[in-house]
Amino acid sequence: MKPVGPIPPGFAAIDGELAIGGMTASQLIAQAGASPLFVYSRTMLEARIAQLRAALPPRVNINYAIKANPLRQIVEFMSDLVDGFDIASGGELALAQAAGLDLARLSFAGPGKRDVELAAAIAAGVTLNVESASELRRALKLGDAAGLAPRLALRVNPDFELRGSGMKMGGGAKPFGIDQSEIPAVAAELLAAGAEFRGLHIFTGSQSLDTQAIIETQSNVLALADRLAGDIGQALPKLNMGGGFGIPYFHGDTPIDLAAIGQALAEQLGHLPDTLADTELCIELGRYLVGEAGVYLTTVLDRKESHGDTYLVTDGGLHHQLAASGNFGTVVRRNYPVAIATRFTAEPQETASVVGCLCTPLDRLADKAHLPRADVGDIVAVFCAGAYGATASPAAFLGQGPAREILL
Ligand SMILES: *Cc1c(COP(=O)(O)O)cnc(C)c1O
Repeated sequence: MKPVGPIPPGFAAIDGELAIGGMTASQLIAQAGASPLFVYSRTMLEARIAQLRAALPPRVNINYAIKANPLRQIVEFMSDLVDGFDIASGGELALAQAAGLDLARLSFAGPGKRDVELAAAIAAGVTLNVESASELRRALKLGDAAGLAPRLALRVNPDFELRGSGMKMGGGAKPFGIDQSEIPAVAAELLAAGAEFRGLHIFTGSQSLDTQAIIETQSNVLALADRLAGDIGQALPKLNMGGGFGIPYFHGDTPIDLAAIGQALAEQLGHLPDTLADTELCIELGRYLVGEAGVYLTTVLDRKESHGDTYLVTDGGLHHQLAASGNFGTVVRRNYPVAIATRFTAEPQETASVVGCLCTPLDRLADKAHLPRADVGDIVAVFCAGAYGATASPAAFLGQGPAREILL
């Protein structure tokens, strides 16, 4: 038997069945027309932002990193809840434009931006988080050609990283950002060219559940920003402090202490140096905003035994839930929070593995989990499915196609 991850708070049962927004899993699938189905909850999205607003100093803006979940309705819904958006491709820019977002509230990071993407962002007034000196030169040239002064921030590759972070994106050699030692020279070039300097972007990592590490990193980010501003010789108009707030996916994971992070940040902001005194501050979060607000529902198609092991074969799989299958940035496969939605309040009775319908041994949604007895027609719920699910999985693999998605 292998433990499953903790089910996020806020889920209810109706007649013993998992319910979201007052509807049972079966009703949701019936309404959507078929499983597999991603269900996202507006109530949970709102609740999460409200928690953040209550904990963080009011001066700190909250940006949503669209790549975590680019579903159009979610992006539109978030536009009333967050202060800005981070995009990472021309495709996400097109989405932001179609969704009617305020493009002045967008920043565009990403290590490989094509000229067409840079030009579209410059024309739209989006802030580019510049990832290299050569990208800066391309942006300046494209700005010149269009007769526009591009809005440019510099993405810093800091010498430190966020401890305990699931994906390291700072510290040492990286394809992301400009090494911190190079920042003053690149900034000088930017300023000399007459571009609009929009400050710095310092992203240090993702998916950290270590509250102390997040606090220390935020303090290091502010100190580095001050130092670099001094070297550049300008107060910073804006500082994107990165994010990295993680959510509990696995057995033994505990949530971060948001109140402690907010308190520590408030203390820091109480005595900021002149270089940051009037700086617009933001954090950028993806999974922390949307991850727990989503559930993936998939129906059991077959129940079989093999050499004494029980398999529940579902109509879903890694083509929608690559992360839950353990194939998206994890070293050791562990079980996500998984439940039999149709027997949500029943006691576990047996050990079973939940697998997908793909012909590969990688396609596993739960390995030897202790679950209520489920049979053909039962519905399996995979929690923490709101981020890096539908669009971070190979939906076309084996001709399966995408899952349905609804925002309640
Ligand atoms: C991916 C990414 C994020 C979002 O990360 P989460 O772990 O989902 O919060 C934020 N900023 C940048 C620059 C990213 O690349």
